[in-house]
Amino acid sequence: MTIAVIGSNMVDLITYTNSLPKAGETLEAPDFAIGCGGKGANQAVAAAKMGGRVMMVSKVGDDLFAPSTVANLQQQGVDTRFVTTASGTSSGVAPIFVDDQSQNRILIIKGANQQLKPADIDDAAEALKACTLIILQLEIPLETVYYAIDFARQHEIRVILNPAPAVATLDIDYACKCDFFMPNETELEILTGLPVSSDEEVMRAGQSLLKRGLKNLIITLGSRGSVWMSGDRVHRVAATPVQAVDTSGAGDAFIGCFAVLLTETGDVAAAMTQASAYAACSVTGRGTQRAYPDTAAFQRFLN
Ligand code: ATP
Repeated sequence: MTIAVIGSNMVDLITYTNSLPKAGETLEAPDFAIGCGGKGANQAVAAAKMGGRVMMVSKVGDDLFAPSTVANLQQQGVDTRFVTTASGTSSGVAPIFVDDQSQNRILIIKGANQQLKPADIDDAAEALKACTLIILQLEIPLETVYYAIDFARQHEIRVILNPAPAVATLDIDYACKCDFFMPNETELEILTGLPVSSDEEVMRAGQSLLKRGLKNLIITLGSRGSVWMSGDRVHRVAATPVQAVDTSGAGDAFIGCFAVLLTETGDVAAAMTQASAYAACSVTGRGTQRAYPDTAAFQRFLN
């Protein structure tokens, strides 16, 4: 039961600084760190850490970040046979500036992720046909996302689409072809053009998408938990209360864990409960992938 993530990888270049330089100014910053990120890679690593068999279809640049991105995925047990190099392009990178108030300023350069094309899905077709679930996000070209959804439908592979970052022009007809559509509340707001500041508004926005033909909508609501809407059914899962340190990548942790439980048990509500606890555990540590617990650490968190 292999899970395929067709998506992005990024290298986080994190500068910790007391103040940001003005135009023309050079400042010294006290600290710097490199982290592995990108929504696709985060979700693949979360699923692998939860014991899933995971393969990734992704693109790296022909630069010094590529080998460490591939090595990191392999260390986490992700099959990287279809993580290929886009020549003449940088890897996806995210320069992040964190000030002394812990405020983030983030730039995203998608780089090689923009070179992930339908042909890359064709190249991985035989391996993909053996998968039971494909997970997609929107940090790669939309044409590739649509192609992957059609491929999955043709071969009866289940699909989770995480519409992140939100693209207002996303074709909802494609979202309807997916088994699970999993936005956070901001993405829901951008996709529907409706307000989401209260639970009632979230429900109304969710209903507006369901009316267009979505099968299963799971909305993550940060510390307010998550909700699954399908037909007339509404199932709420409260967030697991924790002392949050860094919530970045919580949604990716949720989706990676949910995917593993879904493929193992088929029980959506139970998968959400586990995913909610897994994401809560991930926000108790700094960073994204490095804060995702493996099964042993997750078990200790649950006890
Ligand atoms: P990202 O884009 O950074 O990956 P997101 O905004 O897509 O995150 P959220 O909706 O913030 O994702 O969070 C996903 C899930 O993580 C929530 O549904 C919840 O279960 C859990 N979670 C997030 N923040 C907290 C928190 N402060 N305490 C407990 N659980 C949390």
